Amino acid sequence: MRPIQMVDLKTQYHRLKPQIDKAVIEVLESAAFIGGQPIAEFSSKLANYLNVKHVIPCANGTDALQIALMALDLQPGDEVITPSFTFIATTEVVALLKIKPVFVDVDRDTFCMDIDSVKKAITPRTKAIVPVHLYGQAADMEALMELANAHNITVIEDNAQAIGCDYTFNDGRVKKAGTIGHIGTTSFFPSKNLGAYGDGGAIFTDNDALANKMRIIASHGSSKRYYHETVGVNSRLDTIQAAILGIKLPHLDEYIDARNKAAAFYDKAFAGHPKIKTPGRSKKSNHVFHQYTLVLEDVDRNGLQAYLSENQIPAMIYYPVPGHRQEMFAAFKTEYDLPVTDYLTTRVISLPIHTELDEEQLAHITKHVLEFCNR
Ligand SMILES: *Cc1c(COP(=O)(O)O)cnc(C)c1O
Repeated sequence: MRPIQMVDLKTQYHRLKPQIDKAVIEVLESAAFIGGQPIAEFSSKLANYLNVKHVIPCANGTDALQIALMALDLQPGDEVITPSFTFIATTEVVALLKIKPVFVDVDRDTFCMDIDSVKKAITPRTKAIVPVHLYGQAADMEALMELANAHNITVIEDNAQAIGCDYTFNDGRVKKAGTIGHIGTTSFFPSKNLGAYGDGGAIFTDNDALANKMRIIASHGSSKRYYHETVGVNSRLDTIQAAILGIKLPHLDEYIDARNKAAAFYDKAFAGHPKIKTPGRSKKSNHVFHQYTLVLEDVDRNGLQAYLSENQIPAMIYYPVPGHRQEMFAAFKTEYDLPVTDYLTTRVISLPIHTELDEEQLAHITKHVLEFCNR
């Protein structure tokens, strides 16, 4: 059996090695290491794929969120609603800008932002909502946009985990996750579904004014060299990374299919097990399985993780401490009651999922998970 990894980037690379090597060498030969053709080309290909007007490339997914928030000109005391059950980047950038993150709960089945919880958290100071399409499935964007538009609140979708995911509206229209809110952001961190070979990120919007503003912010607050109209940052997508992403993007849908095949294998193996809850599916979104995450009932999670590790199976806890319990936010001194988040935090475990898992590996993983849970 081939060794099992959480993500097998090496095998995936070898499938595209000739094209990727060629694209990287072309950048080296051109010596145009900042900006240039590959960036414009990849951005336009991605805009096409997502069917969105503007793609603004930047250095990573955290910067993408920060630049999006900076474009809203928020003031200290303003509030941004985000789920507590997410990677820290989503909420960290809010606090970094001296804005108050307001944590809400998630849905028990989809792990995405719970809309009723958002409703209760809205105040006159709420200026933005940042839903996270956690593990690869979109939050209920239609309901969220109705709510946000009624209160004149900007929505920034953190789409770092769900690039390529389709969301279906009640009238049958389909849009890509990340293009439904006013702004969407993503990450090309190597382990993400569309991963570069280093850091990378992008921002999406259909709004011309916001796009212009975010481009300026990402470029030292300047649209004309050495003339700076606003305080910005230096956040660029690396040219070599853009060249690699340009090769990988046409394969994203295959990658999503491969991840779904692995997920279907897991689903079948664990179906109906009293102690193992397989990932619930949204009625409105497909799943791109950035993570395959089980909820364990009455199972010693650390014990399971150790048992899997003894059998050469990695497994991860995404995430062991939710935002509302992170020391980082202690200064905000807000008490939260987020029962679903606290419930999930102690029970979730993510199994290996990527584009290169074969049935022998999947059978090895499910056999050992079941062996431990059946004890
Ligand atoms: C990965 C990730 C980010 C941050 O992306 P980086 O490129 O690592 O900065 C933000 N939000 C979520 C939900 C993520 O999974």
